Amino acid sequence: MIDIAAANEALKHGDALDVIRWTQETFGDEWLYACSFGAEAVVLIDMIAAVVPDARLLFLDTDVHFPETLALIDRVMERYPRLRLIRAPASLTLEEQEAQYGPELWKHNPTLCCTLRKVRPMQQALAGVQAWMTGLRREQSASRANTAFVNEDAKFGKIKICPLIHWSWDDIWMYINTHRLPYNPLHDQGYPSIGCMPCTAPSSEQGDSRSGRWVGHAKNECGLHADG
Ligand code: SF4
Repeated sequence: MIDIAAANEALKHGDALDVIRWTQETFGDEWLYACSFGAEAVVLIDMIAAVVPDARLLFLDTDVHFPETLALIDRVMERYPRLRLIRAPASLTLEEQEAQYGPELWKHNPTLCCTLRKVRPMQQALAGVQAWMTGLRREQSASRANTAFVNEDAKFGKIKICPLIHWSWDDIWMYINTHRLPYNPLHDQGYPSIGCMPCTAPSSEQGDSRSGRWVGHAKNECGLHADG
């Protein structure tokens, strides 16, 4: 059993690499990084690979990702060939989803669509691990402002680890540029946060990098980080 308060106290003066090291020392091979291959992800992958060269990455393959995202995954895996990539398929194919729920479920019920294509596959993928890592940053949105390095994840019954909570958007890009990391070219076209194609738009709102997600819906999380 992990004492979350004690872990955060021990890490309070640490940086992202310290958090990754703590994760490996604490959980061994029973953790993975759930990653969408956005800007934070390429930074975190670079750091993880330096500490745990054969760490596991989980990608929720919803069948509706941008081609740019899929191409980036290939580039990242070429750069870090020892990392183990797990592609978790959706609970049902797009054709099955359309047959059961009608076309373009993401337009009329994105919560159900995320449940079928992200949350349930995530539950299955996490079945064999104690903890998962994510690139959440506190400044991304109001709902992420109180995130700690180590968090209880009641939704999945796991420990959720967030090494980048203190990083700013500028910090992320400084690291990407300094280390010449590959990144999704959609970031250069006004997309700070990149998810599935139907639910991602360029963002015009300063200070809330999630504002381009699920535009027109009262939703800015996919269900992996929210209680709902
Ligand atoms: S982000 Fe959109 S398309 Fe992707 S699973 Fe959620 S509702 Fe469906």
